[in-house]
Amino acid sequence: MNTIETTLPTEQNSALDPRGALWPTYAPPMDLVFSHGDGTVLYTEDGRSFLDFISGIAVTGFGHAHPALVAALNEQAQKLWHLSNMFRVPAAEHLAHTLAANSFAHGVFFTNSGTESVEAGLKAIRGYQAHIGRAERFRIIGMAGSFHGRSMAAVAAAGNPAHCQPFIPGDYGFDQAPWDDLAALEALIGPQTAGIILEPIQGEGGIRPASEAFLRGVRELCDQHNLVLMFDEVQCGIGRSGALFAHQSLGVEPDVLASAKGLGGGFPVGACLASEAVAQAMPMGTHGSTYGGNPLAMAVASKVVELTLEPGLLQSVQAKGDKTQRLLQSLCERYPEVLKRVAGTGLMLGVECVLPNTELLAQCRQRGLLVGKAGANMLRLLPPLNVSEEHIEQAVAILEDVVKDAAQAAAASDSAIAETAALVAPKE
Ligand SMILES: *Cc1c(COP(=O)(O)O)cnc(C)c1O
Repeated sequence: MNTIETTLPTEQNSALDPRGALWPTYAPPMDLVFSHGDGTVLYTEDGRSFLDFISGIAVTGFGHAHPALVAALNEQAQKLWHLSNMFRVPAAEHLAHTLAANSFAHGVFFTNSGTESVEAGLKAIRGYQAHIGRAERFRIIGMAGSFHGRSMAAVAAAGNPAHCQPFIPGDYGFDQAPWDDLAALEALIGPQTAGIILEPIQGEGGIRPASEAFLRGVRELCDQHNLVLMFDEVQCGIGRSGALFAHQSLGVEPDVLASAKGLGGGFPVGACLASEAVAQAMPMGTHGSTYGGNPLAMAVASKVVELTLEPGLLQSVQAKGDKTQRLLQSLCERYPEVLKRVAGTGLMLGVECVLPNTELLAQCRQRGLLVGKAGANMLRLLPPLNVSEEHIEQAVAILEDVVKDAAQAAAASDSAIAETAALVAPKE
C-alpha cells in the first residue's frame, strides 16, 4: 500500500496541466469534453449536445454507440480479445472474403490504422516489381495535395513539405505529380518507377475528387508500363462516397487499396486490399502486424461492413448526400460573400469558403454543430452514413445562421471601412 502511495503524483507535478504530459504535436484541442454519444449527437458532462458532422474524421460511420456495434464488441470482449497471427482467426478470413467478394481484390492484409494500410500497400508496390524481376523499379509517384498518414513512407508519398521536414532526407524514393494532370504524370514515369498512389477523392487536401478521365488515364499508363496502381481510400471508402469504395462508381480499378477510418466505426482497424498478382508478391515473411486482424477488431469491422452492405444503405448515402449538396448549394447562391462552392460526393462533402473556414467552424461549434476543415479553405462535412434527414436539415439551418451573421458582420465592417474612408478622404 505504502509503495503505491509513494508513486502517486507529487503536489508539484499534479499542479501541472495534465495535457502537458502529452506530446505537443496536435493543435491545442478545443476545450470540450464529451461524456457520451448517441447516433449523430454528442453530449457533454454538463448536458450540452452537439450534432457530430465530422465523425472523428470519417471514422464513426454509423454514429456513436450503434447498438449492433456495441453488441458485436461486447460479445467478443467476453470471449477472446487477442491471439496473434500464429493462430487462425475465422472472423478475419470471413471479413477478407467479404471485402474481396465486393471489390477488385483477391487478398487482404489487416492493419490497425490508415497509415499502416498505406505502408503495407507501398511495400507491396515495391514487392510486386521485385517479384517479377524488376527490382530496379522502386520509385513511387504520389500526388500534390495528398494525405496518406504520418509514417515516414506515408509523408514521403504525399510530399507535403510541412509534414516531411525534417524527417525525410532526400526524396525517400518518391516523386510528386500535380493533381489531375495526366501529361505531367506521364512525364514523371521513368525506368525506376514502380507504382502510383492517389486518393480517388482527396480528403485533407480539400475534398477534391479526381476526374474520371484522369483516373482512366492513370490506369492506362499503369497498364502500359506495368506499374502498380494504388488507391488510398482510407477516408473516402467504406460507403462514404455512396459506393463501398469510391472508385467503384468511377469504373477504374486499382491493384492495391488502403482502407481504415470508417472500417472500424471507431475501433482501430485498417486493411490493405490487393489484386491476386500483388498479393502473391507478398509471400510468407514479407510483412506482419501483431494486432492486425485480431478478434476484437474483426468482430467490429465485420459488423460495420455488414451494415454498409445492407440493402439500401449505399443508395441512402447517395440520396442524403445529394440532398445535403442541394441545401449547401442554395446557401452558396444566397451568401456568395461567405461561401463559394460545394464539393464532394455522397456524405463526403466540402464547402469552399470566402471568409476564413476556421472562423465559420468556430461559430458552428458555438451553436452546436461540429464540422471539420480541409485544405483550400474548405469546411468539411462527414456526418454518419446513417444520419437522419432531420439532422441534415438542422445542421444546414445552423450553418445558415452562422453564414447569415457572418455576411451581416462583413457588410457592417465594409460600411464602417467605407465611412472611415469617406472621413479621411482628402477634400476636393
Ligand atoms: C486519415 C488518413 C490516413 C491516415 O490514417 P491513420 O489512421 O491516421 O493512420 C491515410 N490516408 C488518408 C486518405 C486519410 O484520410
